[in-house]
Amino acid sequence: MILPIYAYGQPVLKQTGEELDFDRFTGLEELISNMWDTMYAAKGVGLAAPQVGLSLKLFVVDTTPYEEEGKPFTGIKKVFINPVKLDEHGEAWSFEEGCLSIPDLRAEVDRPERVNLSYFDETGTVREELFDGLNARVIQHEYDHIQGILFIDLLKPLKKRMLQRRLEAIKKGQVEADYKLRFYRKP
Ligand SMILES: [Zn+2]
Repeated sequence: MILPIYAYGQPVLKQTGEELDFDRFTGLEELISNMWDTMYAAKGVGLAAPQVGLSLKLFVVDTTPYEEEGKPFTGIKKVFINPVKLDEHGEAWSFEEGCLSIPDLRAEVDRPERVNLSYFDETGTVREELFDGLNARVIQHEYDHIQGILFIDLLKPLKKRMLQRRLEAIKKGQVEADYKLRFYRKP
């Protein structure tokens, strides 16, 4: 089932996600399946639980669309639950990022080349893995989501100021996307 994606301005995007309790959480399989459906329908390569309105430490990543013939890159398709960033290293590199919660806005973001994570997969098995390149990039972006951090928060103040009007417009719902967005309405 495709879920609406929570847009910039929604308080849940600024919250730190709660740890998922495997023993008590019901409907995990369905939630993950819905998150895949939602991400693919919006042509994304990653989606975090806060983006579907759930303040939880859970995200999904599929970077296989970045695979191109003749290029050495191998994508990943994985579910990350209660991930902990153990280490980030390598030279910082710049890449133009976007976010399904912030449609029509892209900006260059610097991040370290590699990230070492421990996390639980969808079966509840604990894993530790090192990711690099575009895989690390997408994981770092999604990991930030479950800490309440958006990629625009990582921009230099001047750059962020330049985008302020567009961000305000998105907050008010004045933006087009070819997937369903849910905007914040003041109670
Ligand atoms: Zn995002």
